Amino acid sequence: MKNYKGVTTKCVHSGDLIDDKFKGATSPLYPSTAYGYLDVEDDKYPRYFNTPNQLALSKKIAHLENCDSALLFGSGIAAIFTSLFSFLKSGDHVLFQSSLYGGTINLVVKEFKKFNIDYTFVESLEIKDFESELKANTKIIYIESPSNPLLEVIDLKKIALFSKKKNLISIIDNTFASPINQTPIDFGIDIVLHSATKYLGGHSDILAGTVASSFSNIKKITESSINYGGNLSEYTVWLLERSIKTLSLRVKAQNENAQKLAEFLENNKNVDLVFYPGLKSHPQHDLSKNQMKGFGGMMSFVLKNENKAADFTRHLKIIKAVMSLGGVESTITSPSLTSHSKLSKDQRKKYGISDGLLRFSVGIEDYDDLENDLTQAFNIL
Ligand SMILES: *Cc1c(COP(=O)(O)O)cnc(C)c1O
Repeated sequence: MKNYKGVTTKCVHSGDLIDDKFKGATSPLYPSTAYGYLDVEDDKYPRYFNTPNQLALSKKIAHLENCDSALLFGSGIAAIFTSLFSFLKSGDHVLFQSSLYGGTINLVVKEFKKFNIDYTFVESLEIKDFESELKANTKIIYIESPSNPLLEVIDLKKIALFSKKKNLISIIDNTFASPINQTPIDFGIDIVLHSATKYLGGHSDILAGTVASSFSNIKKITESSINYGGNLSEYTVWLLERSIKTLSLRVKAQNENAQKLAEFLENNKNVDLVFYPGLKSHPQHDLSKNQMKGFGGMMSFVLKNENKAADFTRHLKIIKAVMSLGGVESTITSPSLTSHSKLSKDQRKKYGISDGLLRFSVGIEDYDDLENDLTQAFNIL
């Protein structure tokens, strides 16, 4: 057993495939979908999650999340869907935090009723409010922290304790934090999900998802997953492994840039509000300090002149107005023009989403270039 604990070393070395034949420095890629069945221990097939590259990368993910085991999926939503539906059956109930990734809300609202699965969105971060919505048939509690797009932070230790006391399965979408900034298993959360499309991939060129948990939970999810079939292609598995080698370096650079930019924006006369867990003004700043190792690269802020949000983003020259997040390049999105555009202005207001709100994914560029880019775009307002 190799002897290391550092997260950057894990990113580089955990679960790498050794190239015994040619002694190459990187993991070889085994793209086969067909494997021999004579004189072998198990039947290998990509949909069974047991091919060499999948097993190796799963080990890296599990090491990063400080748990036993992990699985890889073709998208974040495939990881979310499969995890939920591996445990749920007709007649069950799920407690959801209400501030969640829009695609997760769609999955629940559009699909659950078809399978006679009941749910409640809890519009609070307090345990007592989750407890008051608990039913005899509640099976799962599902959270996201920090959440999209307002960076709300929920108490992981309290959620885990509540979940254990009530015999529930606790699931967290850990995408915004990445395993570098937050390892929820350490606080007692059962299952950790990622859209690997974001920080784990990190270059805006991979669609993937991951699930990390105990051996027994992963065994149960594997049994259902084989029937659902949301696996990741071996080529993408290999590219994702390559990407994660720099995850720690990327995220640390993003944490540093984001902290400085959040402080810069908070002091800017064109900005009304900044939502970033690293700011003292964030309502859960102390909690974030306790449960996060870094505050992340995601923030959102509100322009004073809310009619200028589109113009402002159009004038940015380095920071790109594109929808995704977690890449090495800085990107900015208007939730009211994208993820929440189908809601009325009043409905958006209910979710705290004004037309001046911008979600900012901070990249690894040099800090001064990012600050200067924002400044020149503010000058047109
Ligand atoms: C993008 C995202 C997802 C969905 O992931 P896909 O890879 O797009 O399927 C889930 N949760 C969060 C927080 C996300 O940002």
